Amino acid sequence: MIYLDTSVALARLLAEDRQPPDSLWTQSLISSRLLEYELWTRLHALRLGASHGDAARILLAKLALVELAPPILARALEPFPMAVRTLDAIHLSAMEYLRNNGQTIVLASYDNRLNEVAAKMRIALFDQQQAPITFQDEEAEYEAWLQQHAAEGFVMNNLEFQPEHIRIHRATCRHLHRPQDHRKRTKPYKKIVSASYRQLFDMAAALGAENPNCKICSPN
Ligand SMILES: [Zn+2]
Repeated sequence: MIYLDTSVALARLLAEDRQPPDSLWTQSLISSRLLEYELWTRLHALRLGASHGDAARILLAKLALVELAPPILARALEPFPMAVRTLDAIHLSAMEYLRNNGQTIVLASYDNRLNEVAAKMRIALFDQQQAPITFQDEEAEYEAWLQQHAAEGFVMNNLEFQPEHIRIHRATCRHLHRPQDHRKRTKPYKKIVSASYRQLFDMAAALGAENPNCKICSPN
């Protein structure tokens, strides 16, 4: 099922340019009860409670909402793979709770920070055109991403301040899977990953790399 983040619900209600495909709304949608509060406080802050109230209620009626139950709130007190904001911690805890109860969760969010930490927790993302994710000294998380995105992923090797060593590979490139690199694939090199080659190429160019494409796997 799709775990709906408030950013996507608001994009729908406020008719923002960025919209998920209509097919999203026909799927089984779930979120934390927190979404209801985030949605209304945002609408009231924009003075749209009256004009958008009915649409908000219709949207909320499509969702199953996970209550802010003690086990979920307890998990939010524990650490996450990277620094998180308080409300994100509660959403992530709800996702983990659902997953631990046998649900397959796919997160739909326009919040890059939430997407990044969710990806590190091996939660699948609905929108594949996400901001790149950086793995540094995170072997298990990186290997998991590589497995999940073998079909369409790209990986950029990046050693800080040495643009001549920046390389972009396809996730399947043999250069990324050399046995001698086992357990040191994310250090000292950072791995920056994305489903979008273009995203990584632009990033490499901004870092000063002139010819970042791997000659073995030709990612471009
Ligand atoms: Zn390659």
